[in-house]
Amino acid sequence: MKAPSLSIRARLTLWHASVLAVVILVFSAGTFFSAWLWLYHDLDRRLASDMTTVAAAHRMGTQELGELETQVGMTLFEVAQKGRVLYQATGWKQGQLALAMPPGETGVRTWTGPDGLVYRVARAPGPEYQITVARHERVVRDALKSLAIILSAGVPIAIGIALAGGYLLAGRVLSPIGAMADKARMISADSLAERLPTGNPRDEFGRLAGVINEALARVQGSFDQLRRFTADASHELRTPLTAMRSVGEVALHRPLDPDAYRNVIGSMLEEVEHLTRVVESLLALTRAESGAIRPKREAVDLCRLAEDVAAHLRVLADEKEQRLLVEAAEPVLADCDPAILRQGLTNILHNAIKYTPAGGQVRVAVTRPSAAEAAIEIRDSGPGIPPQHRARIFERFYRVDEGRARDLGGVGLGLAIARWAVEANGGRVELESAEGGGSLFRVCALRAVAVPGDGINPSQGSK
Ligand code: ADP
Repeated sequence: MKAPSLSIRARLTLWHASVLAVVILVFSAGTFFSAWLWLYHDLDRRLASDMTTVAAAHRMGTQELGELETQVGMTLFEVAQKGRVLYQATGWKQGQLALAMPPGETGVRTWTGPDGLVYRVARAPGPEYQITVARHERVVRDALKSLAIILSAGVPIAIGIALAGGYLLAGRVLSPIGAMADKARMISADSLAERLPTGNPRDEFGRLAGVINEALARVQGSFDQLRRFTADASHELRTPLTAMRSVGEVALHRPLDPDAYRNVIGSMLEEVEHLTRVVESLLALTRAESGAIRPKREAVDLCRLAEDVAAHLRVLADEKEQRLLVEAAEPVLADCDPAILRQGLTNILHNAIKYTPAGGQVRVAVTRPSAAEAAIEIRDSGPGIPPQHRARIFERFYRVDEGRARDLGGVGLGLAIARWAVEANGGRVELESAEGGGSLFRVCALRAVAVPGDGINPSQGSK
């Protein structure tokens, strides 16, 4: 059966009131029982004291017993000897208390007389004579009745106050949740900069609001990134389209000779080529980041990979009369996907060649910083990357020199793809660059695999 859907406030109130009701009931029952015990204990103590008084008076004589009645006001006692009544107080006779306890029986008992009055009767065993005393129980009973009335009226009132107090208290305690819900309801994609009220950041609700605010900040970051990416991608696609359009319009404006038309078509094709590169890079990056590409790891010889990539790009370095060196003294094996890592290395090395001036130098070094780690360093003698750009250099469409990078054919996605490619292989890309002193891109933290016969065990790790 489905539980009734009560609000948290109602549930808290009910729990609070139930617990309090149990406590109040237990406390009331305890109080009543203690009072009951104490009052009867007190009554029995008085009876014992009466018995001592009667015994003392009896020892002094019958007259003394009479004085007990007239002067002390004790009217409920009897003195007997072996079943024969020696003295009976007037109250004893009137109340027919002789029926209260059969002869020979001793102890304390409650007895209701024929007139409906209730007595507490006590008799002590004695070798020669027995003294029986009694007192009215009415006082005790009245006291207990009053206590019962007070408690039975007080308990529902206390539970009522607990309910009302609990409801108010739960409302106060839960008010931050209400405030958070009101604020959260107002937050939309356009107002992601808004945050939930945290109240006291150290209490549970404050911490919850803090966690939600952190999540909101991450969502806002992703949204901002997405917006920037959309804006950058549109800009990136619009620029060549605008160039093609203006070239076409100018060409259509007046008749041209075949060579001029060829030039127009040539420059349009250049833009198409750029557009194709942008679209292909975007597709590659989107596929990569969507998780559609799963690296197939195997032991890859990084020296051979570096040499392959360098051989592939050497023609570009040669065009610029650059020295392209690959330093790989001994084989270094790493656990990675060769195709993906090749893509990353190609982009970094291509940049090094692209941004290093003619006659410069580009060095690729395969190293093994520790038994467990393999790395590839790509160092160039180009202009370097100013410190303020270093943190953002791997972002999509981020360029240090927009115009120059575009002139050199860059689409602004090379390093973003390179970073993904290296990270997909468990590594990371580090950048060291002194402005004007060249750049050093280090592809590090790749998991080294033991090369048969090199005596180094990768499981030793590095410290
Ligand atoms: P692009 O296609 O423009 O080269 P990248 O993402 O590959 O895009 O690189 C981003 C920017 O980083 C480049 O525009 C360039 O300004 C800078 N950059 C990358 N590599 C180098 C390098 N080796 N030397 C100097 N600047 C570089």
